[in-house]
Amino acid sequence: MSTLINPTTGAELDSSPASASLEEADAVIERAHDAFPGWRDVAPGERARLLRAFAAVVDEHLEELAQLEVLNAGHTVGNARWEAGNVRDCLNYYSAAPERLFGRQIPVAGGTDVTFHEPLGVVGIIVPWNFPMPIAAWGFAPALAAGNTVVLKPAELTPLTAIRIGELALEAGLPPGVLNVVPGKGSVVGERFVTHPLVRKVCFTGSTAVGKKIMAGCADQVKRVTLELGGKSANIVFADTDVAAAAASAPYAVFDNAGQDCCARSRILVQRSAYDEFVGRLETAVRALRVLDPADEQSEMGPLVSAAQRDTVQAYVDGATVAFTGTAPDGPGWWLPPTVVESRDTSEPVWREEVFGPVVAVMAFDDEDEAVALANDTDYGLSGSIFTSDVGRALRVARRVEAGNLSVNSHSSVRYWTPFGGYKQSGLGRELGPDAPNAFTEEKNVFIAH
Ligand code: NAP
Ligand code: MG
Repeated sequence: MSTLINPTTGAELDSSPASASLEEADAVIERAHDAFPGWRDVAPGERARLLRAFAAVVDEHLEELAQLEVLNAGHTVGNARWEAGNVRDCLNYYSAAPERLFGRQIPVAGGTDVTFHEPLGVVGIIVPWNFPMPIAAWGFAPALAAGNTVVLKPAELTPLTAIRIGELALEAGLPPGVLNVVPGKGSVVGERFVTHPLVRKVCFTGSTAVGKKIMAGCADQVKRVTLELGGKSANIVFADTDVAAAAASAPYAVFDNAGQDCCARSRILVQRSAYDEFVGRLETAVRALRVLDPADEQSEMGPLVSAAQRDTVQAYVDGATVAFTGTAPDGPGWWLPPTVVESRDTSEPVWREEVFGPVVAVMAFDDEDEAVALANDTDYGLSGSIFTSDVGRALRVARRVEAGNLSVNSHSSVRYWTPFGGYKQSGLGRELGPDAPNAFTEEKNVFIAH
Protein backbone atom coordinates (compact mmCIF):
# COMPACT_ATOMS: atom_id res chain seq x y z
CA MET A 1 0.00 0.00 0.00
CA SER A 2 1.17 3.47 -0.70
CA THR A 3 1.88 5.47 2.42
CA LEU A 4 -1.18 7.08 4.02
CA ILE A 5 -1.22 10.87 4.20
CA ASN A 6 -2.97 13.11 6.73
CA PRO A 7 -5.05 15.32 4.39
CA THR A 8 -4.99 18.20 6.86
CA THR A 9 -1.21 18.52 6.92
CA GLY A 10 0.07 16.52 3.95
CA ALA A 11 2.28 14.61 6.40
CA GLU A 12 2.80 10.86 6.20
CA LEU A 13 1.00 8.77 8.82
CA ASP A 14 3.02 6.33 10.92
CA SER A 15 0.97 3.26 10.10
CA SER A 16 0.14 2.17 6.58
CA PRO A 17 -1.28 -1.33 6.35
CA ALA A 18 0.01 -3.69 3.68
CA SER A 19 -2.21 -4.24 0.63
CA ALA A 20 -3.53 -7.77 0.37
CA SER A 21 -2.36 -9.82 -2.61
CA LEU A 22 -4.71 -11.93 -4.69
CA GLU A 23 -3.59 -15.03 -2.76
CA GLU A 24 -4.19 -13.30 0.57
CA ALA A 25 -7.65 -12.18 -0.58
CA ASP A 26 -8.46 -15.76 -1.57
CA ALA A 27 -7.30 -17.04 1.82
CA VAL A 28 -9.56 -14.55 3.66
CA ILE A 29 -12.55 -15.42 1.46
CA GLU A 30 -11.98 -19.11 2.26
CA ARG A 31 -11.74 -18.29 5.97
CA ALA A 32 -15.07 -16.46 5.77
CA HIS A 33 -16.54 -19.43 3.92
CA ASP A 34 -15.30 -21.83 6.62
CA ALA A 35 -16.79 -19.62 9.34
CA PHE A 36 -20.18 -19.42 7.60
CA PRO A 37 -21.93 -22.61 8.78
CA GLY A 38 -21.03 -21.91 12.41
CA TRP A 39 -22.31 -18.33 12.25
CA ARG A 40 -25.44 -19.31 10.33
CA ASP A 41 -26.30 -21.85 13.01
CA VAL A 42 -25.70 -19.63 16.04
CA ALA A 43 -29.07 -19.36 17.82
CA PRO A 44 -30.87 -16.13 16.81
CA GLY A 45 -30.88 -14.75 20.34
CA GLU A 46 -27.15 -15.38 20.68
CA ARG A 47 -26.37 -13.73 17.33
CA ALA A 48 -28.42 -10.75 18.53
CA ARG A 49 -26.48 -10.64 21.78
CA LEU A 50 -23.13 -10.74 19.95
CA LEU A 51 -24.14 -7.85 17.69
CA ARG A 52 -25.15 -5.80 20.74
CA ALA A 53 -21.83 -6.67 22.39
CA PHE A 54 -20.06 -5.50 19.20
CA ALA A 55 -22.04 -2.22 19.37
CA ALA A 56 -21.04 -1.77 23.01
CA VAL A 57 -17.34 -2.24 22.23
CA VAL A 58 -17.60 0.26 19.35
CA ASP A 59 -19.20 2.67 21.82
CA GLU A 60 -16.31 2.25 24.27
CA HIS A 61 -13.89 3.12 21.43
CA LEU A 62 -15.96 5.91 19.89
CA GLU A 63 -13.44 8.68 20.50
CA GLU A 64 -10.51 6.57 19.30
CA LEU A 65 -12.36 5.73 16.06
CA ALA A 66 -13.38 9.36 15.56
CA GLN A 67 -9.82 10.62 16.03
CA LEU A 68 -8.54 8.00 13.59
CA GLU A 69 -10.96 9.28 10.95
CA VAL A 70 -9.91 12.89 11.58
CA LEU A 71 -6.32 11.80 10.97
CA ASN A 72 -6.88 9.50 7.98
CA ALA A 73 -9.78 11.16 6.13
CA GLY A 74 -9.72 14.77 7.38
CA HIS A 75 -13.29 14.56 8.68
CA THR A 76 -14.31 17.18 11.21
CA VAL A 77 -14.21 15.71 14.69
CA GLY A 78 -17.93 16.38 15.15
CA ASN A 79 -18.80 14.46 11.99
CA ALA A 80 -16.35 11.66 12.82
CA ARG A 81 -18.00 11.14 16.23
CA TRP A 82 -21.39 10.98 14.50
CA GLU A 83 -20.00 8.42 12.02
CA ALA A 84 -18.59 6.14 14.74
CA GLY A 85 -21.88 6.48 16.64
CA ASN A 86 -23.69 5.51 13.47
CA VAL A 87 -21.77 2.20 13.39
CA ARG A 88 -22.84 1.49 16.98
CA ASP A 89 -26.47 2.47 16.35
CA CYS A 90 -26.67 0.49 13.12
CA LEU A 91 -25.38 -2.64 14.91
CA ASN A 92 -27.90 -2.16 17.70
CA TYR A 93 -30.75 -1.65 15.22
CA TYR A 94 -29.92 -4.78 13.22
CA SER A 95 -29.31 -6.82 16.39
CA ALA A 96 -33.11 -7.13 16.46
CA ALA A 97 -33.13 -8.80 13.05
CA PRO A 98 -31.90 -12.36 13.83
CA GLU A 99 -35.05 -12.94 15.87
CA ARG A 100 -37.28 -11.37 13.22
CA LEU A 101 -36.21 -13.06 9.97
CA PHE A 102 -39.79 -14.14 9.40
CA GLY A 103 -40.85 -16.46 6.63
CA ARG A 104 -44.41 -16.73 5.36
CA GLN A 105 -47.12 -19.34 5.39
CA ILE A 106 -49.08 -19.22 2.15
CA PRO A 107 -52.46 -20.92 1.67
CA VAL A 108 -52.33 -23.81 -0.82
CA ALA A 109 -54.47 -26.85 -1.56
CA GLY A 110 -53.34 -30.32 -0.47
CA GLY A 111 -50.69 -29.28 2.00
CA THR A 112 -48.83 -26.49 3.74
CA ASP A 113 -46.56 -23.96 2.10
CA VAL A 114 -43.93 -22.08 4.07
CA THR A 115 -40.99 -19.86 3.20
CA PHE A 116 -37.63 -19.47 4.91
CA HIS A 117 -35.08 -16.65 4.70
CA GLU A 118 -31.69 -18.30 4.45
CA PRO A 119 -28.36 -16.43 4.52
CA LEU A 120 -26.33 -16.32 1.32
CA GLY A 121 -22.89 -17.27 2.62
CA VAL A 122 -19.91 -14.92 2.19
CA VAL A 123 -20.86 -11.32 1.38
CA GLY A 124 -18.25 -8.98 -0.13
CA ILE A 125 -18.52 -5.31 0.82
CA ILE A 126 -16.51 -2.69 -1.11
CA VAL A 127 -16.38 0.75 0.49
CA PRO A 128 -15.28 4.18 -0.84
CA TRP A 129 -13.12 6.70 1.03
CA ASN A 130 -15.72 9.35 1.71
CA PHE A 131 -17.57 7.76 4.67
CA PRO A 132 -15.42 4.77 5.63
CA MET A 133 -17.22 3.86 8.86
CA PRO A 134 -20.96 4.25 8.19
CA ILE A 135 -20.92 2.79 4.68
CA ALA A 136 -19.10 -0.30 5.95
CA ALA A 137 -21.61 -0.75 8.78
CA TRP A 138 -24.62 -0.26 6.48
CA GLY A 139 -23.42 -3.39 4.71
CA PHE A 140 -21.99 -5.58 7.47
CA ALA A 141 -24.59 -4.98 10.21
CA PRO A 142 -27.62 -6.35 8.29
CA ALA A 143 -25.48 -8.98 6.50
CA LEU A 144 -24.15 -10.39 9.79
CA ALA A 145 -27.59 -10.16 11.40
CA ALA A 146 -29.01 -12.35 8.63
CA GLY A 147 -26.34 -15.00 9.31
CA ASN A 148 -23.81 -14.25 6.56
CA THR A 149 -20.09 -13.86 7.00
CA VAL A 150 -18.41 -10.79 5.54
CA VAL A 151 -15.26 -9.81 3.70
CA LEU A 152 -14.87 -6.03 3.73
CA LYS A 153 -12.54 -4.01 1.52
CA PRO A 154 -12.00 -0.44 2.68
CA ALA A 155 -10.72 2.18 0.23
CA GLU A 156 -6.94 2.26 -0.16
CA LEU A 157 -6.89 5.87 1.04
CA THR A 158 -8.88 5.30 4.25
CA PRO A 159 -8.47 1.78 5.70
CA LEU A 160 -7.65 2.58 9.34
CA THR A 161 -11.09 2.74 10.97
CA ALA A 162 -12.30 -0.40 9.18
CA ILE A 163 -9.25 -2.33 10.37
CA ARG A 164 -9.89 -1.15 13.94
CA ILE A 165 -13.58 -2.06 13.72
CA GLY A 166 -12.56 -5.56 12.58
CA GLU A 167 -10.39 -5.90 15.72
CA LEU A 168 -13.24 -4.65 17.90
CA ALA A 169 -15.55 -7.32 16.47
CA LEU A 170 -13.15 -10.01 17.76
CA GLU A 171 -12.85 -8.22 21.10
CA ALA A 172 -16.66 -8.28 21.37
CA GLY A 173 -16.69 -12.05 20.89
CA LEU A 174 -17.65 -12.46 17.24
CA PRO A 175 -16.10 -15.74 16.12
CA PRO A 176 -12.92 -15.38 14.01
CA GLY A 177 -13.67 -15.40 10.28
CA VAL A 178 -17.14 -13.83 10.62
CA LEU A 179 -16.15 -10.21 9.86
CA ASN A 180 -12.91 -9.96 7.87
CA VAL A 181 -11.32 -6.69 6.83
CA VAL A 182 -9.06 -6.95 3.74
CA PRO A 183 -7.19 -3.74 2.93
CA GLY A 184 -6.01 -3.58 -0.64
CA LYS A 185 -6.54 -2.27 -4.13
CA GLY A 186 -9.91 -2.27 -5.87
CA SER A 187 -8.28 -3.79 -8.92
CA VAL A 188 -7.00 -6.74 -6.85
CA VAL A 189 -9.13 -7.37 -3.75
CA GLY A 190 -12.31 -5.69 -4.99
CA GLU A 191 -12.23 -7.51 -8.30
CA ARG A 192 -11.58 -10.80 -6.50
CA PHE A 193 -14.82 -10.35 -4.54
CA VAL A 194 -16.56 -10.13 -7.91
CA THR A 195 -14.88 -13.16 -9.49
CA HIS A 196 -14.49 -15.55 -6.52
CA PRO A 197 -17.28 -18.15 -6.60
CA LEU A 198 -17.46 -18.39 -2.80
CA VAL A 199 -18.52 -14.73 -2.54
CA ARG A 200 -22.28 -14.89 -3.05
CA LYS A 201 -23.14 -11.18 -3.04
CA VAL A 202 -21.23 -7.95 -3.63
CA CYS A 203 -22.33 -4.70 -2.00
CA PHE A 204 -20.50 -1.91 -3.76
CA THR A 205 -20.53 1.76 -2.84
CA GLY A 206 -18.51 4.05 -5.05
CA SER A 207 -18.44 5.70 -8.43
CA THR A 208 -20.93 4.90 -11.18
CA ALA A 209 -18.06 4.01 -13.54
CA VAL A 210 -16.69 1.29 -11.25
CA GLY A 211 -20.23 0.20 -10.30
CA LYS A 212 -20.97 -0.62 -13.94
CA LYS A 213 -17.87 -2.83 -14.09
CA ILE A 214 -18.88 -4.61 -10.87
CA MET A 215 -22.37 -5.26 -12.21
CA ALA A 216 -21.02 -6.63 -15.48
CA GLY A 217 -18.53 -8.82 -13.59
CA CYS A 218 -21.24 -10.19 -11.28
CA ALA A 219 -23.33 -11.22 -14.29
CA ASP A 220 -20.89 -14.03 -15.04
CA GLN A 221 -21.98 -16.03 -11.96
CA VAL A 222 -25.38 -14.33 -11.62
CA LYS A 223 -23.93 -13.00 -8.38
CA ARG A 224 -26.24 -10.87 -6.25
CA VAL A 225 -25.19 -7.23 -6.29
CA THR A 226 -26.21 -3.99 -4.62
CA LEU A 227 -24.86 -0.73 -6.02
CA GLU A 228 -24.79 2.62 -4.22
CA LEU A 229 -23.27 5.03 -6.72
CA GLY A 230 -22.86 8.70 -7.49
CA GLY A 231 -25.30 11.58 -7.46
CA LYS A 232 -26.00 15.08 -8.77
CA SER A 233 -28.84 15.93 -6.47
CA ALA A 234 -31.04 19.02 -6.60
CA ASN A 235 -32.05 21.31 -3.78
CA ILE A 236 -35.26 22.94 -5.05
CA VAL A 237 -36.19 26.21 -3.36
CA PHE A 238 -39.66 27.63 -4.04
CA ALA A 239 -40.38 31.30 -3.44
CA ASP A 240 -43.16 30.42 -0.98
CA THR A 241 -40.65 28.99 1.52
CA ASP A 242 -38.85 30.68 4.39
CA VAL A 243 -35.98 31.83 2.14
CA ALA A 244 -33.71 32.67 5.08
CA ALA A 245 -34.09 29.15 6.50
CA ALA A 246 -33.53 27.54 3.10
CA ALA A 247 -30.36 29.58 2.53
CA ALA A 248 -29.06 28.81 6.01
CA SER A 249 -29.58 25.09 5.41
CA ALA A 250 -28.14 24.90 1.87
CA PRO A 251 -24.41 24.91 2.81
CA TYR A 252 -24.94 21.87 5.04
CA ALA A 253 -26.68 20.07 2.18
CA VAL A 254 -23.59 20.30 -0.02
CA PHE A 255 -20.44 21.30 1.89
CA ASP A 256 -20.68 18.66 4.59
CA ASN A 257 -17.61 16.40 4.41
CA ALA A 258 -16.13 19.02 2.02
CA GLY A 259 -18.76 18.03 -0.54
CA GLN A 260 -17.43 14.48 -0.73
CA ASP A 261 -20.90 13.13 -0.14
CA CYS A 262 -22.92 11.07 -2.60
CA CYS A 263 -26.09 12.80 -1.33
CA ALA A 264 -24.64 16.33 -1.71
CA ARG A 265 -27.24 18.68 -3.17
CA SER A 266 -24.71 20.08 -5.60
CA ARG A 267 -27.33 21.84 -7.72
CA ILE A 268 -29.55 24.49 -6.17
CA LEU A 269 -32.67 25.43 -8.15
CA VAL A 270 -34.26 28.67 -6.95
CA GLN A 271 -37.58 30.11 -8.09
CA ARG A 272 -36.83 33.32 -9.95
CA SER A 273 -38.77 35.72 -7.71
CA ALA A 274 -36.72 34.58 -4.68
CA TYR A 275 -33.42 34.13 -6.55
CA ASP A 276 -31.63 37.35 -5.59
CA GLU A 277 -32.66 37.18 -1.95
CA PHE A 278 -31.64 33.51 -1.73
CA VAL A 279 -28.23 34.02 -3.35
CA GLY A 280 -27.53 37.02 -1.12
CA ARG A 281 -28.36 35.03 2.01
CA LEU A 282 -26.41 32.01 0.72
CA GLU A 283 -23.33 34.21 0.32
CA THR A 284 -23.60 35.31 3.96
CA ALA A 285 -23.99 31.69 5.11
CA VAL A 286 -21.09 30.41 2.97
CA ARG A 287 -18.74 33.15 4.14
CA ALA A 288 -19.60 32.26 7.74
CA LEU A 289 -18.83 28.55 7.30
CA ARG A 290 -15.97 27.57 9.61
CA VAL A 291 -13.44 25.79 7.39
CA LEU A 292 -10.84 24.88 9.97
CA ASP A 293 -8.46 22.15 11.09
CA PRO A 294 -10.89 19.21 11.39
CA ALA A 295 -9.54 18.41 14.87
CA ASP A 296 -10.82 21.82 16.02
CA GLU A 297 -14.19 21.35 17.79
CA GLN A 298 -15.49 24.43 15.93
CA SER A 299 -14.66 23.10 12.47
CA GLU A 300 -17.58 22.63 10.07
CA MET A 301 -15.54 21.65 7.02
CA GLY A 302 -12.09 20.12 6.66
CA PRO A 303 -9.76 19.41 3.73
CA LEU A 304 -10.37 17.14 0.74
CA VAL A 305 -9.21 13.57 1.09
CA SER A 306 -6.22 13.70 -1.26
CA ALA A 307 -4.18 15.95 -3.51
CA ALA A 308 -5.68 14.15 -6.53
CA GLN A 309 -9.26 14.83 -5.35
CA ARG A 310 -8.38 18.47 -4.63
CA ASP A 311 -6.95 18.84 -8.16
CA THR A 312 -10.00 17.20 -9.77
CA VAL A 313 -12.33 19.59 -7.97
CA GLN A 314 -10.10 22.59 -8.71
CA ALA A 315 -10.38 21.79 -12.44
CA TYR A 316 -14.20 22.11 -12.23
CA VAL A 317 -13.83 25.45 -10.46
CA ASP A 318 -11.35 26.69 -13.09
CA GLY A 319 -13.85 25.85 -15.83
CA ALA A 320 -16.77 27.65 -14.19
CA THR A 321 -17.83 31.22 -13.39
CA VAL A 322 -17.45 31.53 -9.65
CA ALA A 323 -19.94 33.84 -7.92
CA PHE A 324 -18.33 33.76 -4.48
CA THR A 325 -16.40 31.53 -2.11
CA GLY A 326 -15.94 31.07 1.60
CA THR A 327 -12.55 30.88 3.19
CA ALA A 328 -10.14 27.98 3.74
CA PRO A 329 -6.63 27.59 5.13
CA ASP A 330 -3.92 27.92 2.45
CA GLY A 331 -2.25 24.68 3.43
CA PRO A 332 -0.37 22.50 4.02
CA GLY A 333 -2.95 19.84 3.22
CA TRP A 334 -5.58 19.56 0.53
CA TRP A 335 -7.84 22.55 1.16
CA LEU A 336 -10.39 24.29 -1.02
CA PRO A 337 -12.89 26.95 0.02
CA PRO A 338 -16.64 26.31 -0.29
CA THR A 339 -17.44 27.66 -3.75
CA VAL A 340 -20.68 28.83 -5.36
CA VAL A 341 -21.14 28.99 -9.13
CA GLU A 342 -24.09 30.63 -10.88
CA SER A 343 -25.02 28.44 -13.85
CA ARG A 344 -26.93 29.60 -16.91
CA ASP A 345 -26.33 26.56 -19.07
CA THR A 346 -27.24 22.98 -18.18
CA SER A 347 -24.47 21.60 -20.40
CA GLU A 348 -21.70 23.00 -18.15
CA PRO A 349 -19.65 20.19 -16.53
CA VAL A 350 -20.11 21.76 -13.09
CA TRP A 351 -23.89 21.48 -13.56
CA ARG A 352 -23.93 17.97 -15.04
CA GLU A 353 -21.10 16.01 -13.41
CA GLU A 354 -20.62 14.82 -9.88
CA VAL A 355 -17.85 17.15 -8.64
CA PHE A 356 -17.48 15.43 -5.24
CA GLY A 357 -16.01 18.50 -3.62
CA PRO A 358 -17.15 21.79 -2.02
CA VAL A 359 -18.70 23.28 -5.15
CA VAL A 360 -22.37 24.07 -5.76
CA ALA A 361 -24.07 25.42 -8.87
CA VAL A 362 -27.15 27.63 -8.57
CA MET A 363 -29.76 28.22 -11.28
CA ALA A 364 -33.13 30.01 -11.50
CA PHE A 365 -36.41 28.41 -12.56
CA ASP A 366 -39.89 29.80 -13.19
CA ASP A 367 -42.46 27.18 -12.22
CA GLU A 368 -42.98 23.74 -10.73
CA ASP A 369 -42.81 21.93 -14.07
CA GLU A 370 -39.50 23.54 -14.94
CA ALA A 371 -38.07 22.75 -11.49
CA VAL A 372 -38.97 19.06 -11.85
CA ALA A 373 -37.64 18.92 -15.42
CA LEU A 374 -34.31 20.48 -14.36
CA ALA A 375 -34.02 18.23 -11.31
CA ASN A 376 -34.59 15.13 -13.46
CA ASP A 377 -32.28 16.24 -16.28
CA THR A 378 -29.43 14.00 -15.08
CA ASP A 379 -28.42 10.34 -15.32
CA TYR A 380 -28.28 10.24 -11.52
CA GLY A 381 -31.13 9.98 -9.01
CA LEU A 382 -29.90 9.58 -5.46
CA SER A 383 -31.10 12.40 -3.27
CA GLY A 384 -32.61 15.87 -3.15
CA SER A 385 -34.41 18.52 -1.11
CA ILE A 386 -37.56 20.58 -1.60
CA PHE A 387 -38.13 23.81 0.27
CA THR A 388 -41.74 25.05 0.23
CA SER A 389 -44.45 25.97 2.72
CA ASP A 390 -47.12 24.38 0.53
CA VAL A 391 -47.71 20.78 1.62
CA GLY A 392 -49.46 19.87 -1.62
CA ARG A 393 -46.57 21.20 -3.68
CA ALA A 394 -44.04 19.38 -1.49
CA LEU A 395 -45.77 16.07 -2.13
CA ARG A 396 -46.43 16.73 -5.83
CA VAL A 397 -42.79 17.57 -6.47
CA ALA A 398 -41.47 14.77 -4.23
CA ARG A 399 -43.52 12.25 -6.22
CA ARG A 400 -42.19 13.58 -9.55
CA VAL A 401 -38.48 13.86 -8.74
CA GLU A 402 -36.70 10.66 -9.82
CA ALA A 403 -34.53 10.07 -6.76
CA GLY A 404 -34.43 7.54 -3.95
CA ASN A 405 -34.11 9.87 -0.97
CA LEU A 406 -35.79 13.25 -0.66
CA SER A 407 -36.16 15.63 2.25
CA VAL A 408 -38.68 18.45 2.55
CA ASN A 409 -37.58 21.63 4.33
CA SER A 410 -34.49 19.80 5.53
CA HIS A 411 -31.02 18.89 4.30
CA SER A 412 -30.94 15.52 6.04
CA SER A 413 -30.14 12.41 4.01
CA VAL A 414 -29.55 8.95 5.40
CA ARG A 415 -31.09 7.26 8.43
CA TYR A 416 -30.12 3.64 8.99
CA TRP A 417 -33.72 2.69 9.83
CA THR A 418 -35.14 3.99 6.51
CA PRO A 419 -34.41 2.63 3.03
CA PHE A 420 -31.55 4.20 1.09
CA GLY A 421 -30.59 3.90 -2.58
CA GLY A 422 -30.70 5.44 -6.00
CA TYR A 423 -32.85 5.72 -9.10
CA LYS A 424 -31.30 5.52 -12.57
CA GLN A 425 -27.46 5.43 -12.55
CA SER A 426 -27.24 6.22 -8.83
CA GLY A 427 -27.58 2.58 -7.95
CA LEU A 428 -29.37 -0.72 -7.85
CA GLY A 429 -31.29 -2.11 -4.90
CA ARG A 430 -31.79 -0.55 -1.49
CA GLU A 431 -29.74 -0.65 1.67
CA LEU A 432 -30.75 0.08 5.26
CA GLY A 433 -34.27 0.25 6.66
CA PRO A 434 -36.22 -2.67 8.09
CA ASP A 435 -35.96 -4.81 4.92
CA ALA A 436 -32.14 -4.75 4.60
CA PRO A 437 -31.50 -8.14 6.28
CA ASN A 438 -33.82 -9.85 3.77
CA ALA A 439 -31.61 -8.55 0.97
CA PHE A 440 -28.86 -10.76 2.43
CA THR A 441 -31.00 -13.88 2.22
CA GLU A 442 -32.55 -16.21 -0.33
CA GLU A 443 -36.24 -16.84 0.20
CA LYS A 444 -36.84 -20.59 0.01
CA ASN A 445 -40.30 -21.99 -0.55
CA VAL A 446 -41.22 -25.43 0.84
CA PHE A 447 -44.47 -27.27 0.08
CA ILE A 448 -45.42 -30.10 2.43
CA ALA A 449 -48.11 -32.42 1.07
CA HIS A 450 -50.60 -33.84 3.56
P1 NAP B 1 -14.45 4.35 -6.60
O1 NAP B 1 -13.25 4.75 -7.28
O2 NAP B 1 -15.57 3.79 -7.37
O3 NAP B 1 -13.99 3.29 -5.47
C1 NAP B 1 -14.86 2.72 -4.54
C2 NAP B 1 -14.28 1.42 -4.02
O4 NAP B 1 -14.21 0.49 -5.10
C3 NAP B 1 -12.87 1.57 -3.48
O5 NAP B 1 -12.71 0.70 -2.38
C4 NAP B 1 -12.03 1.11 -4.66
O6 NAP B 1 -10.77 0.62 -4.31
C5 NAP B 1 -12.89 0.00 -5.21
N1 NAP B 1 -12.62 -0.31 -6.62
C6 NAP B 1 -12.06 0.46 -7.57
N2 NAP B 1 -11.98 -0.20 -8.74
C7 NAP B 1 -12.52 -1.43 -8.52
C8 NAP B 1 -12.75 -2.56 -9.35
N3 NAP B 1 -12.39 -2.58 -10.64
N4 NAP B 1 -13.32 -3.67 -8.80
C9 NAP B 1 -13.70 -3.66 -7.51
N5 NAP B 1 -13.51 -2.61 -6.68
C10 NAP B 1 -12.94 -1.50 -7.19
O7 NAP B 1 -15.10 5.51 -5.74
P2 NAP B 1 -14.33 6.50 -4.77
O8 NAP B 1 -13.52 7.39 -5.64
O9 NAP B 1 -13.67 5.76 -3.70
O10 NAP B 1 -15.58 7.24 -4.08
C11 NAP B 1 -16.28 8.27 -4.67
C12 NAP B 1 -17.55 7.81 -5.34
O11 NAP B 1 -18.37 7.01 -4.49
C13 NAP B 1 -18.43 8.95 -5.76
O12 NAP B 1 -18.86 8.78 -7.08
C14 NAP B 1 -19.63 8.87 -4.82
O13 NAP B 1 -20.81 9.40 -5.29
C15 NAP B 1 -19.74 7.44 -4.57
N6 NAP B 1 -20.45 7.19 -3.31
C16 NAP B 1 -21.73 6.72 -3.34
C17 NAP B 1 -22.43 6.50 -2.15
C18 NAP B 1 -23.82 5.95 -2.14
O14 NAP B 1 -24.23 5.41 -1.15
N7 NAP B 1 -24.58 6.06 -3.23
C19 NAP B 1 -21.80 6.76 -0.94
C20 NAP B 1 -20.50 7.24 -0.95
C21 NAP B 1 -19.83 7.44 -2.15
P3 NAP B 1 -9.45 1.55 -4.17
O15 NAP B 1 -9.15 1.45 -2.75
O16 NAP B 1 -8.40 0.91 -5.01
O17 NAP B 1 -9.82 2.91 -4.63
MG1 MG C 1 -11.71 6.33 -7.08
